[in-house]
Amino acid sequence: MASICVCARFRPLNSREDGEAICITRSDSQSFSIKDEKDEQYMFSFDKVFYEDSEQADVYEFLAGPIVRDAVNSINGTIITYGQTGAGKTFTMEGANILEADNLKKGLLPRVVDELFDAINGCGEATAYKIKLSMVEIYMERVRLATDLIFCVFPLQLCFIIATGSVSGRDLFDLSKDNIQIKEHKSHGILLSGATEVSFNIFHMESSNQLHFPISLTDNETTLLQIPILDGEEALKVLCGGIANRAVGETQMNAGSSRSHCIYMFTIQKDVTNEKRVSSGKVVLVDLAGSEKVEKTGAEGKVLEEAKTINKSLSALGNVISALTSSQHAKSLHIPFRDSKLTRLLQDALGGSSQTALLCCCSPSLSNSSESVSTLRFGARAKHIKASSSRVLNINSKEDIDRKQQEISALNDVKQQ
Ligand code: ADP
Ligand code: MG
Repeated sequence: MASICVCARFRPLNSREDGEAICITRSDSQSFSIKDEKDEQYMFSFDKVFYEDSEQADVYEFLAGPIVRDAVNSINGTIITYGQTGAGKTFTMEGANILEADNLKKGLLPRVVDELFDAINGCGEATAYKIKLSMVEIYMERVRLATDLIFCVFPLQLCFIIATGSVSGRDLFDLSKDNIQIKEHKSHGILLSGATEVSFNIFHMESSNQLHFPISLTDNETTLLQIPILDGEEALKVLCGGIANRAVGETQMNAGSSRSHCIYMFTIQKDVTNEKRVSSGKVVLVDLAGSEKVEKTGAEGKVLEEAKTINKSLSALGNVISALTSSQHAKSLHIPFRDSKLTRLLQDALGGSSQTALLCCCSPSLSNSSESVSTLRFGARAKHIKASSSRVLNINSKEDIDRKQQEISALNDVKQQ
């Protein structure tokens, strides 16, 4: 039975920590010990430890690569970064600068886009794909939409983006949409229901030359913008636009990224031409708000309120993890997914119908060691989760059922031998 994959990552010392003692002692690629300022020593073992000299590509290959490849085959997966502010969560997710071409520093997000487009372009000609990216932030227990994009990839390797946003069609960060509802769908799992979703049958469009114009929809204030693009690199540029918009939104709302959870949700929909079936898989990337304790930051007023809310949602995440761990023994135990927007949104990811990877990001410096220990304890606690069902395939078609039946008869054959 599959369990959650938990890893730790230590970033190099930063300029503020320059010359400070390093608090970790490496054992091997899975274990290490860490010493705090009171000279207490703690041992930890995870699925993999990425030390200061680790490369972004290795982190991607271990944590995200298998999840992305499975999502193309309709298996959901989630990757979460956890840790105090400045520990390297966003560096891991996005990279030093998402627009930077430096391949070494590319984070998980641009690599996910690359691999999704590569996988899709390498697929059979009879399959068309739709990749939907919803980028949302949870800030003060409200879910707000940063970007909602749909990429359509066709057998001829032509790709279109449908960007949904406000009337201008350019302003993808729609600040009015700051309270998106989270709903559960019988077969699609957790969905963001208030996010603009335009259903538009692009497959009937004739020529790519005619598509470069916005189409107004009469039933609401939304403009649908279609931009023909050719590859993952161009898709990434559009995605960067969304990320830049997120930064603008942050300034307007006076909320820093360290105080909000950022969630990138890719839905990959496979549409096999001439067979009336669609199957879908999700890849969810979660860049959590900083997990540091409130008293250390000397917060008051609004900042204190923000810190309390973050604390509440992260401890709700911890409680869900605990309940899942205990439910190994008591199956009927209530799992408090509904206690926060964050846990509600991650219900698919943690509840067992999906693969989950958690990366505990830490500073290697002695002055941050107590925060690092609490981050690592969170990871150790998560490691006890066992997925309640191993990989669950979203079955949407006769072919999926046939494939499953073939697998079952193959297993029966093995049993009889
Ligand atoms: P967080 O998102 O956890 O608050 P960041 O990812 O923004 O932290 O990292 C804080 C700083 O440390 C950034 O300047 C980032 O570029 C740098 N940094 C983080 N991790 C690494 C790493 N593995 N290698 C090099 N620099 C890093
Ligand atoms: Mg960050």
